[in-house]
Amino acid sequence: MAEKTMEFKTELSQLLHLITHSLYSHREIFLRELISNSCDAIDKIRFAALTDADLLDGDNDWKISLSVDKDAKTLTLTDNGVGMDEDALVENLGTIAHSGTKAFLAQMEEGAKDNPDLIGQFGVGFYSAFMVADRVTVETKQHGKDAVKWTSEGTGSFTLDAGTLEQRGTSVTLHLKDDADEYMEEYRLRELVKKFSDFVEHPITMMVTRTEGEEDDKKEVETEETLNTQKAIWLRSKNEVSQEEYSEFYKHVSHDFTDPAEIIHYTAEGAMEFKALLFIPAKKPFDMMMGGGDQKAHLNLYVQRVFISNEFENLLPTYLRFVKGVIDAADLPLNVSREILQENPQLDQIRRNIVSRIFKTLKAMKKSDEKKYLEFYAEFGQVLKEGLQSDFENREKIADLLYFESSTTKTGELRSLEKVAAELGEDQKEILYLSAEHRGIAENSPFIEGYKADKQEVLFMLDPIDEFVLPHIGEYKGKTLKAVNKGAAGDDEALKDEKEKFKGFLGFVQEKLSGVKEVRLSTRLKESPACLVGEEHSMSPHIEAMMRRAGQSVPKTERILELNPTHPAVEAVQAMYEADGSNEKLGESVELLRDLAHVAEGSKVEQPAAFASRIAALMASDLAK
Ligand code: ADP
Repeated sequence: MAEKTMEFKTELSQLLHLITHSLYSHREIFLRELISNSCDAIDKIRFAALTDADLLDGDNDWKISLSVDKDAKTLTLTDNGVGMDEDALVENLGTIAHSGTKAFLAQMEEGAKDNPDLIGQFGVGFYSAFMVADRVTVETKQHGKDAVKWTSEGTGSFTLDAGTLEQRGTSVTLHLKDDADEYMEEYRLRELVKKFSDFVEHPITMMVTRTEGEEDDKKEVETEETLNTQKAIWLRSKNEVSQEEYSEFYKHVSHDFTDPAEIIHYTAEGAMEFKALLFIPAKKPFDMMMGGGDQKAHLNLYVQRVFISNEFENLLPTYLRFVKGVIDAADLPLNVSREILQENPQLDQIRRNIVSRIFKTLKAMKKSDEKKYLEFYAEFGQVLKEGLQSDFENREKIADLLYFESSTTKTGELRSLEKVAAELGEDQKEILYLSAEHRGIAENSPFIEGYKADKQEVLFMLDPIDEFVLPHIGEYKGKTLKAVNKGAAGDDEALKDEKEKFKGFLGFVQEKLSGVKEVRLSTRLKESPACLVGEEHSMSPHIEAMMRRAGQSVPKTERILELNPTHPAVEAVQAMYEADGSNEKLGESVELLRDLAHVAEGSKVEQPAAFASRIAALMASDLAK
């Protein structure tokens, strides 16, 4: 293979620049990241070899070794993991998997540069090597493939060439920067391995020089030492593990930089034996922050300390995908393919058990430290809500964990759904809610006027997902969830006289307006002249607009125009109609009433220019009086 130079994807160059400049004070984490990668690579080949021993090339003495060359000023990490072939190398270390990199970079430009948490959420992995090295060489070989060599200075490009490795595995050599000499010191490397990677189950070794012998007969000998204790942290009992150890282990499995919010460590006994060490992160990882990313949950499944996979979808439901950690099962079969294991019914039992633990933990957090819970909720509430749609069994438990703003809270303040339901009077059978684009619209919405007057609380659903998932709750603690902008409202017996009076007028309005399903008098309005009401299970207008903006074809829903018979504007138009049904101002006035309903709910009027000129004409005639 002839040497060739390739350009990094543009975003990657930018990212590299950012990492090397903004994470400076955290640069020691490069070692953790590289060890993590080696560890993953070993786990991969070990698992594959369970069903195909030939892949091992006779080498299964798992090891990650560090070596230092002080003359060349290099630190090298070598593993006998799965290795990479040329394509994998280009794919893994020359492009970037994260889909939202551009958006992330834009965010960093906007002043988040000094916030290492943010870049931590991105998961910098391998590239963190460039914080301490001005050149990195990766030599790697996959079973049955040619060895390849990758070199880069972490600027715009990388070089590929034929490699010299004869054994399967990967060797990463860091040509250390002048100010990174410390990473050639034995004590420093020892300290970092202890701090970040002590629990890694494969030995992390280093050649060290020791003086042996008595006074007169001293000699220097080179020996290989293992730097980590390799104690699988999840197998230890809770009181033997310190907070720091938990935190470091969490960072190892999650690639997060911040400490976790909650640690769940327990042993399940009985029918299904397993150990679980789970973490609830404090911060949303980058791809979740961008609203997309990987929608699957990834828990690391081990069977008696052997890593099996982090791809088992039935181990944790997707709406709990923020949970990270390890499950180590006692009695799952080891020597079967991933596909067969995936079907094992024991996995479902494990899932039920851990899901129930996670709910217990969240519930306890909510009860004992609401502030902390709300911080969790701000990060992951949106993901959790997805479960209302997908996990029928746990719907009530999810509902117990929900919070919303409401007509009785200040902006940004949240109320627990559980509390709202508990505080409703016996005779109040409905939990009222309004879904709206933002608080301002909800607060001033015509739909809540009547309830405000009656001092009834209306929850504000300001998260677009609410509209899709809330209806799945249906009933909660014996109360029905009711959207105030949909379906009937109140008792219209009260409007008997008005109905008689407005009969002809309503018919006229219906005839004049297209795209309106029905025209009726309203019991919900107090101050506004008109509103548009959807059917019980229809989509709210701001959601419809949002989906259209996202390029989805949504059929236009026809809604019901409700008029407030006590509003002077409605009374005036009605009187105008009664006096002279052919008055040419009538048509415009009726359209104006409909447009006002649109504006009040936060929607766009269909013909803004016509609307504006009508208002202007009214102002002119009114102010000229
Ligand atoms: P991440 O580990 O979060 O996926 P990295 O940038 O650290 O991101 O690594 C990118 C990919 O490169 C890894 O997913 C893996 O496929 C590959 N890789 C990195 N280091 C090694 C290694 N030591 N052995 C084999 N593959 C590796």
